[in-house]
Amino acid sequence: MILALESSCDETAVAVFDPARGLVGEWVHSQIALHERHGGVVPDLATREHLRHFAPLLERTKAEVGLKDVTQIAVTNGPGLAACLAIGGAAAKALALALRVPVVGVNHLRGHVWSPFIARHAEAPAEFDARRRELLPHLGLIVSGGNTLLFMLDAERRITELSSTRDDAAGEALDKGAKLLGLGYPGGPLIEKLSEGGRMDAFDFPRGIGRRDELDFSFSGLKTSLRYLLEKMSADEIHARLPDLCASYQQAVVDALTRKTRAALSRGGFKSLGLSGGVANNRTLRAALEREAKRGRVPFLAAEPQHTGDNAGMIAFAAWADMTGVERSAGSGLRIEPSAPLAVAF
Ligand code: AMP
Ligand code: MG
Repeated sequence: MILALESSCDETAVAVFDPARGLVGEWVHSQIALHERHGGVVPDLATREHLRHFAPLLERTKAEVGLKDVTQIAVTNGPGLAACLAIGGAAAKALALALRVPVVGVNHLRGHVWSPFIARHAEAPAEFDARRRELLPHLGLIVSGGNTLLFMLDAERRITELSSTRDDAAGEALDKGAKLLGLGYPGGPLIEKLSEGGRMDAFDFPRGIGRRDELDFSFSGLKTSLRYLLEKMSADEIHARLPDLCASYQQAVVDALTRKTRAALSRGGFKSLGLSGGVANNRTLRAALEREAKRGRVPFLAAEPQHTGDNAGMIAFAAWADMTGVERSAGSGLRIEPSAPLAVAF
């Protein structure tokens, strides 16, 4: 079994994955309430929280699942906040020493890459190796607070980044938009909630730059356009039209993501479409991408809600899914890399 630790940003998480059964335990301590009052993640506070919460989470792991069958430790080694990653790395090394098992560093983005496959594996663990061949090459969209990118996962499990954002990530655009609208943090879920009573065509926001066949994203224009619009409105007007503003803004983000995904899918050769990262919780986005998958006649794999935000389940699963038969019996080392890109070998 693989015991995984995640602490790249503002969630302390532990998970245990059994290749024969799936995830047998997952625990997350979220720091949202702590950072909320600062309007964003404060690195020093996050580091201190990770330090406080790993021990109790590991005690729970030991009590609820046990550690005796753990044969491999996996830990997020980047990208993320350097000091936060270091806490997870130190905890992982200590565990590896105590349990006398190897430790491997896992790229956080690789966790997001594999997260839509966790549910498929759980349906029929013994058949996963064979079935995943039917799903690769895979086109995936990762949308989170720090990243927005399209990638290809090919039949040899190589990852190619097809595009990224030129400025803000989609989640960042939603969080910053929410801030301009005077809402709280994180903004994505609040904008989604307020959108329910609004019209998505009430305001016309830009849908990102570039030609139709260009795959890069851009969200800074959208944010600026909201700022200019709000400067022309009175406080009462903004308050009264909040649902319309939220619905239109959210739709602009969803449209931008959907259009680029469609353009990538239409290049052909993909056998499945995936969606992961915190923004993947958004129901409008999930529905839009599901329609794109239908249109492209490929299965749609969306990460389950508990695997969209930061979690250790996807780190354990990626560690396992990424490894070849040889590596599966010997972890391949640990180096902390705060700015690791997606396509780096680990
Ligand atoms: P992550 O960076 O993966 O931890 O995800 C956090 C980001 O996801 C933040 O930018 C949130 O605003 C965003 N997010 C979370 N839930 C939703 C939602 N339901 N709709 C849109 N964005 C969301
Ligand atoms: Mg997070």
